[in-house]
Amino acid sequence: MRFATKLLHGENTIDRSTGAVTLPIYQSSTFHQFDIDNFGEYDYARSGNPTRKYLEEEFAQLEGGSYGFAFSSGIAAISSVISIFSSRDHLIVSEDVYGGTYRAVTKLFNRFNIEFTFVNTNNIENIKSAIKKNTKAIYLETPSNPLLKITDLNAAISLAKDNNLITIVDNTFMSPYLQRPLELGADIVVHSATKFIGGHSDVIAGLAVTKNKNIADEIYKIQNGFGAILSPQDCYLVSRGLKTLKIRMEESQKNALSLANWLEEQEEVEKVYYPGLINHNGYEIHKNQSFGSGAVLSFKFKTLEQTKYFLNNVENVVVAVSLGAVETIVSYPVKMSHATIPREEREKLGITDTLIRVSVGLEDIEDVISGFKKAFIIL
Ligand SMILES: *Cc1c(COP(=O)(O)O)cnc(C)c1O
Repeated sequence: MRFATKLLHGENTIDRSTGAVTLPIYQSSTFHQFDIDNFGEYDYARSGNPTRKYLEEEFAQLEGGSYGFAFSSGIAAISSVISIFSSRDHLIVSEDVYGGTYRAVTKLFNRFNIEFTFVNTNNIENIKSAIKKNTKAIYLETPSNPLLKITDLNAAISLAKDNNLITIVDNTFMSPYLQRPLELGADIVVHSATKFIGGHSDVIAGLAVTKNKNIADEIYKIQNGFGAILSPQDCYLVSRGLKTLKIRMEESQKNALSLANWLEEQEEVEKVYYPGLINHNGYEIHKNQSFGSGAVLSFKFKTLEQTKYFLNNVENVVVAVSLGAVETIVSYPVKMSHATIPREEREKLGITDTLIRVSVGLEDIEDVISGFKKAFIIL
């Protein structure tokens, strides 16, 4: 079965007990036990709920994994996965991870003495030289946020395997339609399902998937023990969004390439970052490890004055935090996703105050382009 068919007719797309073709919302916190010596599959909904179970199993299969876990947010999924590690364990993390991940590890997990080293993972040598005796995992994001930097997944995974390390990949920017790290040998994939998976700017959710039974047992222990589960209503919204993942990704990706090409020709624009541009750093690597360039791009204006004018005047899009939605979302990383990263760190990473991130949606791209053009001031 191919991907789009799996989205609609794959495992768990039909309710086993009634045949309902949309995911039933089992709004029940507890479950009657018919036999006190043999409990049924469900007892208490933090530990398991049929709505969540359907979504988790369906999503696991889409990522090429065997065990899925749905959480109350992307950062809850990420924090729960990091919680499988213990005090004095060391993790190597991409230096340009999602701002919330950076905050979680530097402000929360450091208090529990889990050690982290941030490295530029675009160069595998940097990962290699950061490996210590107590290193347990490598945490990656590719393409990264917001500069779409590419990490060579095959090289990182093989390095991890040689050193007995777990590889964790945040696959939010690509979705399983465009990139499946587990199929390349990664151990855990995490997602903000708030983004492309849900796709409609109406739900906060997270997912984690693995093929490995031992890792799955550890994640389940945290999911049940820490309790950051996704509610049945929200599972339904994620599942509903998921059905159109392929056509949404295809269309937004096409729009993103048109917008990237247009931006490249604009005099006000200094540089465009998009994995679908041949001159993008890591273009070939990304092409080999994914099935497309995605719908997120960034660009830098030449002046701060133009940047501010653009943000206040751009039309036919929304200016907001977040990405991966049906509408085009223009974000300002220094004040939004990366506001928690100290200025000095940020600038080192290339996240300047003239940088704009765009998650391209499903509008007619001509209208997005004309809405952009109106917010350009002639220099
Ligand atoms: C949004 C995002 C997250 C966090 O997800 P939430 O659902 O907002 O908690 C993690 N990683 C990436 C790459 C994201 O874009």
